Amino acid sequence: MNVADSELVMTILKQNGFDRAENIETADVILFNTCSVRQHAEERVLGRINNEMRHKSLKDVKIGVIGCMAQRLGTELADLSRGVDFVVGVDQYDKLPEIIRSSFREEFLSYTDVDNEQLYPAIIPQHQDNLKAFITIMRGCNNFCSYCIVPYTRGRERSRSPLEIIEDVKKAGEQGLREIMLLGQNVNSYSYEEINFPQLLRMVNEIPSIKRIRFTTSHPKDLSDELIETMADTDKVCEHFHLAMQSGDNEILKRMNRGYTAEHYYDLTVKLRQAIPEIAITTDVIAGFPGETEEQFQRTYDIMQKIEFDHAYMFKYSSRSGTRAAEFLDQVPEEIRLERLQRLIKQQEVITTRKYKNAIGSVREIYVENISRRSQEEVSGKTRDFKVTVFPGDSQLIGKFVNVKIVEAAGWTLKGKLLK
Ligand code: SF4
Repeated sequence: MNVADSELVMTILKQNGFDRAENIETADVILFNTCSVRQHAEERVLGRINNEMRHKSLKDVKIGVIGCMAQRLGTELADLSRGVDFVVGVDQYDKLPEIIRSSFREEFLSYTDVDNEQLYPAIIPQHQDNLKAFITIMRGCNNFCSYCIVPYTRGRERSRSPLEIIEDVKKAGEQGLREIMLLGQNVNSYSYEEINFPQLLRMVNEIPSIKRIRFTTSHPKDLSDELIETMADTDKVCEHFHLAMQSGDNEILKRMNRGYTAEHYYDLTVKLRQAIPEIAITTDVIAGFPGETEEQFQRTYDIMQKIEFDHAYMFKYSSRSGTRAAEFLDQVPEEIRLERLQRLIKQQEVITTRKYKNAIGSVREIYVENISRRSQEEVSGKTRDFKVTVFPGDSQLIGKFVNVKIVEAAGWTLKGKLLK
């Protein structure tokens, strides 16, 4: 989502006479687009700002912070880092050109008003990637999961008009981008007049220049049968579903304010696999949420074993000030959070390895994206079910869809052989 927002900001700036510097040394303005979802992300931004302060001693460079951290901290950022010249929240990007110009005349500036209607209409972002486009379909979130800062930084849920989305997708297709990722905090609750998310998917599926459609993020409480049916019968929607589970214990899910039970979540994975047998399901899980007992943790551990996710993003609980969970008195000690996280990771590694090995012998369509990081004689891309695959080939294959026979699974990467 930050990539999509960076593209939006870049487009706004370009339309107003700014351009991207060739490198940081030649830049007059350095913008940090930030994430607040975990404490660690914010700490890293402060570290990066300090690193870039050296440019200020060489010339008059302005440093701006945008994104969720700017929204959350506002003027506090001036105290946390003396290098920051301006902060701009997520709903104020259209004022950035003016703010940047003012920053060369005025002291610290902060623009963080929340605008629950802000959708940046009429701005079709220029996508920076040559192969894939991240396309925002909605902004904000209404769910208020008790651990999450997003509803406070990104405001209330609002959906972009399908006409604008389609225009954005068509433009991406004209630029030669063949894969699109539809983005929102909770795409399942996309709603614009009569159009819901499955209907939007069907509309996007009709655009001839697009070959693959992905989306994220989905909330289990809003995943409908209609969406599963739509996925099953639209040829371009890829066989991958990222469905954040967070916990396998009902009491913890309730304290997280997630709005579903572990049983409901499990049933959704069964339905998805029945409707789309080749689907890969991935998830997010939090270990050591406040009050989590060993027994409750064990339920998460067990359900992960039962579901067998293809991959999971696992985190130890990170307390975010301003959220309800940060106020809970029964915080789990750091070492227990870490120890539980390690147990989850260990188990998931075994499952992921098994899943990846199951792919050996199959033929997969790969959208070739890069030269492999490990070897100049290999290229890498992804399967429709979102698995990185590496195989011998050269740069001429980049941007092509090819069939590859999987011959090996090495960690979380598949290795294959190009079929002629
Ligand atoms: S659905 Fe929950 S976790 Fe996701 S952004 Fe909204 S509040 Fe945060």
